[in-house]
Amino acid sequence: MNNQQLAQNYQQVLARIAKTNHSQKVSLLAVSKTKPIEQIQALVKLGQSSFGENYLQEALSKIAVEPNLNWHFIGPIQSNKTKAIAENFNWVHSIDRLKIATRLSNQRPKNLPKLNVLLEVNISGEKTKSGFIANEVIEMAQQINQLPNIKLRGLMAIPIKANSELARRIPFKKMHDLLLQCQIALPDNKIDTLSMGMSADLEAAIIEGATIVRVGSDIFGARKS
Ligand SMILES: *Cc1c(COP(=O)(O)O)cnc(C)c1O
Repeated sequence: MNNQQLAQNYQQVLARIAKTNHSQKVSLLAVSKTKPIEQIQALVKLGQSSFGENYLQEALSKIAVEPNLNWHFIGPIQSNKTKAIAENFNWVHSIDRLKIATRLSNQRPKNLPKLNVLLEVNISGEKTKSGFIANEVIEMAQQINQLPNIKLRGLMAIPIKANSELARRIPFKKMHDLLLQCQIALPDNKIDTLSMGMSADLEAAIIEGATIVRVGSDIFGARKS
């Protein structure tokens, strides 16, 4: 993809966000997995500063080139990856086990600000998908909130695909309700973030309260799988 096409895609995604009615602040996370650093740098020139990556080695090589961007880890996390994630990222969206959260807290370097984390929720209850089930979320939030070097900021989900706008909104509304419950359970904490909505469903997510939408293919083009 050339930079002109990239700029056009980017402006279109920003316009979709802007024209979806919302009162909350919504930020765009550009999901740059499998895409080259040059495309990230082209977006930075257009004002984008937050990028989401799923694959650790690929992400580390990009972070080495552009260390001052806002890097979000959004992919599955194995235990042997937590140290590098704790050392190199600003945010982690995909906390799906207490053990992973504990390791990230222990391994976060003391000279860096606390690592911002989100709990991943398996909101559609899919057997094959990672994430906490809705019933576990409050208890987990209370435990993870006690870890000293990470800062629990909210929740993330990837619902199953639905083929109508109304059907898409149902799991996003459940996520919003869960976020409100977390805020009630942890009133002193700054739980303010709902990461949900991707290329295909960002409007439904924003209507239901998303504060971060994670968009890859509608900015960078389709990924080869
Ligand atoms: C790849 C990915 C995205 C972006 O998906 P698109 O459909 O390309 O916008 C968002 N969130 C997560 C967790 C992803 O893995």
